[in-house]
Amino acid sequence: MDKPIIIVGAGLAGALMATYFAKRGLRVDIYESRADMRKEEMSAGRSINLALSDRGLKALGEVGIDGEILREAVPMKGRMLHSKNGELKMAPYGKDDSEYINSISRGGLNMILMTIAQHSEKVNIYFNEECIDVDFEEGAVTVKNSTTGLTKTVYGSTIIGADGANSMVRRTMQSKMEGYKANVDWLEHGYKELSIPPAEGGGFRIAKNVLHIWPRGTYMLIALPNFDGSFTCTLFFPLEGEISFEGLDTKEKVRSFFEEQFADAVPHLVNLEDEFLNNPVGKLGTLKCFPWVHSSKAALIGDAAHAVVPFYGQGMNASFEDCSVLDQCIAKHGTDWAAVYAEYEQLRKENGDAIGDLAVENFYEMRDHVADPIFRRKRELEHKLENAYEDYHSKYSLVTFHPEIPYSVAKEKGNKQDKYLMDLCEKLEDVSGVDIAELYEQLQNI
Ligand SMILES: Cc1cc2nc3c(=O)[nH]c(=O)nc-3n(C[C@H](O)[C@H](O)[C@H](O)COP(=O)(O)OP(=O)(O)OC[C@H]3O[C@@H](n4cnc5c(N)ncnc54)[C@H](O)[C@@H]3O)c2cc1C
Repeated sequence: MDKPIIIVGAGLAGALMATYFAKRGLRVDIYESRADMRKEEMSAGRSINLALSDRGLKALGEVGIDGEILREAVPMKGRMLHSKNGELKMAPYGKDDSEYINSISRGGLNMILMTIAQHSEKVNIYFNEECIDVDFEEGAVTVKNSTTGLTKTVYGSTIIGADGANSMVRRTMQSKMEGYKANVDWLEHGYKELSIPPAEGGGFRIAKNVLHIWPRGTYMLIALPNFDGSFTCTLFFPLEGEISFEGLDTKEKVRSFFEEQFADAVPHLVNLEDEFLNNPVGKLGTLKCFPWVHSSKAALIGDAAHAVVPFYGQGMNASFEDCSVLDQCIAKHGTDWAAVYAEYEQLRKENGDAIGDLAVENFYEMRDHVADPIFRRKRELEHKLENAYEDYHSKYSLVTFHPEIPYSVAKEKGNKQDKYLMDLCEKLEDVSGVDIAELYEQLQNI
């Protein structure tokens, strides 16, 4: 029998890729370092929910599972901005109600994707098996079982590294391939999860179908709705300094800081002090590496190739798009892996880099600008343009709602438009008199 494809990592990208392979009749063995999360309790402070949008949905649709996944998601139509005095402002994401993003539990989604992959008899998942080495020439992966401590070497027709930001497959490429480049740019901010439980008797304590943001200059709190009425909140906050995760080290400091900065959230953060002091702090970085592939022997997908900071809500969406593009390359070249991987890398690398840059840019936009009057005037003009011209898309819309436009194109076009509109809005106190037809023409020529 032919050797199976080996996927390292049964996370979001690995589990979806297995389903794509199975649909093409290819046999897959996945080695996952963690235990089967469907049989384990999720650990506190690790319940992240993610924004799933059109790029991710397109890929899920290609394997026929978008409907099933969306049943578990809560639509979010826009950002609800919370000012310090509790004033609320809604900023819709799209030009109308048809454009929205979806909040979904990362763990829940991962479990469904694994179960769907295992519906095919072509797919096996081996848990508690950590990849500790890769021999690319031999197509061999050495795994160590965390329960027995035993190691073994398995052989595949080719290897997919879907083992996340700290990928062992990538690190092995780096140590074995001459001239390999990999760099992580760390943000000075980290993140911590907090939670808002459902209202007593069920339901949501704050508006349901939005992404809540408390932007405060050098830091921000966000909250995404969960299916059960709860919200997962994430505080993006400096790692060090007086106002930082390190600095807020007592219950009193935490409460007084939150009461000053996020007063309207405090009554809903019912375990604030305990969660703040006990939940882990995550670090945030942007990974760029090259190459993404090793001849016909291996390719990286998802965070293993392009971990990005979470501020565009695109890391998973980009990872799912990798699966779709890799599948298109297989449709063209069959299992001529050298040809598949060469084309995959050529199509994806610049787009992986582009979403990494876009995500960092959006961090500053969300943190500093979403509540700023110039930015709000820009959004007003963008809405008018989007409603008047079907082919006009804001930068956010290009990235989020238009999978047919590659990230690299969205970045270039979106940034030019943004700069032009921000410059204009800086000069005008009121944009209600702007001639939209003329502005549209000007934007065609930048
Ligand atoms: C706070 C936060 C918020 C985010 N919000 C969003 C969002 O709103 N929208 C969005 O699209 N994305 C978001 N993301 C990004 C998203 O979570 C990732 O892009 C996505 O999980 C990448 O999927 P992956 O399969 O590549 O990696 P992972 O999901 O990390 O999966 C990797 C898998 O490999 C396994 N593994 C690791 N090492 C080994 C090894 N040596 N051997 C075997 N197995 C191994 C891991 O256990 C894991 O199961 C967010 C991320 C963070 C941190």
